[in-house]
Amino acid sequence: MTCLFCKIIDGTIPSTAIYKDDECYAFADIHPQAPVHILIAPRQHIVSLAETDADDRELLGHLLWAATEIAKSKGLSKGYRVAINTGSDGGQTVDHLHVHLLGDRPLGWPPG
Ligand code: AMP
Ligand code: ZN
Repeated sequence: MTCLFCKIIDGTIPSTAIYKDDECYAFADIHPQAPVHILIAPRQHIVSLAETDADDRELLGHLLWAATEIAKSKGLSKGYRVAINTGSDGGQTVDHLHVHLLGDRPLGWPPG
């Protein structure tokens, strides 16, 4: 198994845990782009959003729900951003589906 995030999820590679349940694991991004920058990944190895199908609808909803819970726990009452970089044009660099949760500063738009 060579996937970086699978190794983080199974504990082979250390990370700073933020939230965990049966479906997902959330951890601090190693190169934070905002004061709060958390990655929420399914425990199941899925390469990207583009690789999901109808069977994954519940899981996808779960990942977004987890993002809202974490945002609340971090006190992001002024707002935040969730992003799912997908594929090379989408800026995805780790091929294990993950949701970025960014907050605690104003975030510009559009992104690069
Ligand atoms: P993406 O570019 O959307 O695929 O996001 C991958 C993210 O993973 C980047 O924001 C990286 O900073 C982050 N990252 C890479 N390696 C690690 C690691 N070992 N622990 C935590 N975050 C990581
Ligand atoms: Zn993986």
